[in-house]
Amino acid sequence: MNQKNFVRSEITRNFLHDLPTSCGVYFLINQEHHIIYIGKAVNIQNRVRNHLQGDSSSPLKRDMAEKICTIQFILTRDEAEALLLEEELIKTYQPQYNIRMKDDKSYPYIHFDARGDFPSVKIARRKTAQSGYFYGPYTNSKKARDGLKILRQIFLLRGCSISESRFPLTRPCLDYELKLCCAPCVGKCHSSDYQDKLKKAQSFLEGDYLEVTSWLEEEMWKAAQLQDYEKAAQFRDHLNCLLNIIGRYRLVLPDNSDIDFIELESESNLANLVVVKVRKGRLIGIENFHVQSEENADRDYILNEFIENFYLDHFNPPTQICVQFNFNHNLPKRIKEKGYSSSIDFPRNNSELDLLHFARENAQKNLQLEKIKAIHQNLDHQQLMNELKTLLSLSSFPRLIEGVDISTFQGDESVGAIVAFFDGFPLKKRYRKYIIRESDHPDDFAMIEETLTRHFKKLIQNQAELPNLLVIDGGIGQLNSALKVLQKFSLPISVLALAKENEEIYLPGKNVALRLPPENPSLQFLQRIRNEVHRFVITFHRVRRNKKMFHSLLDDIPGIGPQRKNILLSAFNSLTDILDYSPQEISRQLKIPPQSIIEIQKKLAQEKLSLKKKGMPS
Ligand code: SF4
Repeated sequence: MNQKNFVRSEITRNFLHDLPTSCGVYFLINQEHHIIYIGKAVNIQNRVRNHLQGDSSSPLKRDMAEKICTIQFILTRDEAEALLLEEELIKTYQPQYNIRMKDDKSYPYIHFDARGDFPSVKIARRKTAQSGYFYGPYTNSKKARDGLKILRQIFLLRGCSISESRFPLTRPCLDYELKLCCAPCVGKCHSSDYQDKLKKAQSFLEGDYLEVTSWLEEEMWKAAQLQDYEKAAQFRDHLNCLLNIIGRYRLVLPDNSDIDFIELESESNLANLVVVKVRKGRLIGIENFHVQSEENADRDYILNEFIENFYLDHFNPPTQICVQFNFNHNLPKRIKEKGYSSSIDFPRNNSELDLLHFARENAQKNLQLEKIKAIHQNLDHQQLMNELKTLLSLSSFPRLIEGVDISTFQGDESVGAIVAFFDGFPLKKRYRKYIIRESDHPDDFAMIEETLTRHFKKLIQNQAELPNLLVIDGGIGQLNSALKVLQKFSLPISVLALAKENEEIYLPGKNVALRLPPENPSLQFLQRIRNEVHRFVITFHRVRRNKKMFHSLLDDIPGIGPQRKNILLSAFNSLTDILDYSPQEISRQLKIPPQSIIEIQKKLAQEKLSLKKKGMPS
């Protein structure tokens, strides 16, 4: 979301009554003009008033209330827009009093669209303002993908984004063949049947297995009575698959309760929160979240913030949330305002208390692991960076390192790329790709020069942070190209080149390359950067080359005009995938003469072979 679309207004804390009573995002700002907290609210004035009064149960909130000097706000059209904007702003400003998911990692959801007669079901990388229902988040993306596959196998729901206005299509996609979709796109399924299955899939995700298993059993017998044994066998398989899954879930509560048990373990500014999910009395999942908070933030504060900022926005709350902390009494009210009839309660019996202990134990274990990981990473990393600084006689500590490489094949579709490592870890948002414009022949040195010239020009223009060290994939020639650029812009950046053949390190002004033993951690770290940029640039080059090659390859095939070319290019991620299917199958699916497919496959096989001979990846 582009923040520039919003207007930010400001008032001082004495003019609280001038704050809007409508929906939006607010910023609490201290005397030094630092944003200390960002929140969203349906009624900005009410929410900020709560903050200013300070929450007596939380010393941290009282502390924050005392520091508020001015309040800024941005009005949004609705709550969903406020939620998205708030998330983005918290990530950008990382205010002191907001708790943050560690690494700003986004957790996947299973998203049911709500539009049309045949809504699709897909993995969503994060909860957005899109219409429909979000299930999750899943802390493990494999769990989300596997869950979605099972759902689609049983309920045959579509996973494509094709607009219903384009139905009927001339043919369904491979999902129909793979028995993942009932193909409403070609009229093979009634909307009422589809909607019915959609509801059952949602009940399944909500833990109502009984409804789904009874339905499958009923359908199985119905099909058997109609002597449709193939269909009956299909329902039987689905039923077994489901019973297997359910069998894995432990019955932990005697009644049919839907309860989430939330516990926390924290130390300094690290915290781990665990949500134990029980549906219809069965333990269906344990989700854990690492969060970063203000140093020594109290437990109640983190739990309240977690439920408010993440839980309410991301999960669909069950009927009961079981906790053991002084929750803010406005929380249940806010849950109600969201349209959920969930309650927040303390444990009522020993079974519930046991589940809270179980959640706490999990949180303790996770925090321990996280701490050990952090200590190791920190120690290793500090030591490594110090070693690197001494070894290479660097003028500054190499916090931000960039790796540079180019990829070309006889000057064709040449590209350059930059990767970045910050504090020893890849910083993907600083990765950059460049299509070489100036050099149309294979001149590595000129291409390095062009890539770096354009890169630094941009960094300087945007006043972005400059790297402390440049690692060039190559030898003395590549190093000199990089030096030329650094001199051109008068940049005091350290640089080295790492050559693949003998893993030699070339440094400016040194006649002899440095050789380190293979087990040296500094060498291994530099190799990691070099390999990462190599991987990144090769992938980019391959994508561009394949696109071009496939376009021209299809040009000469009889029977393949522009329309069929487009059909083929959009049906397969990579044209080499065509080799995995029989010409008859593709012909049937895409309505292209089998002879043309055979021709394409022949050409592709030849092309693959010639690339292999040249030592190029296909
Ligand atoms: S079969 Fe049709 S509706 Fe189903 S996923 Fe494929 S294109 Fe979409």
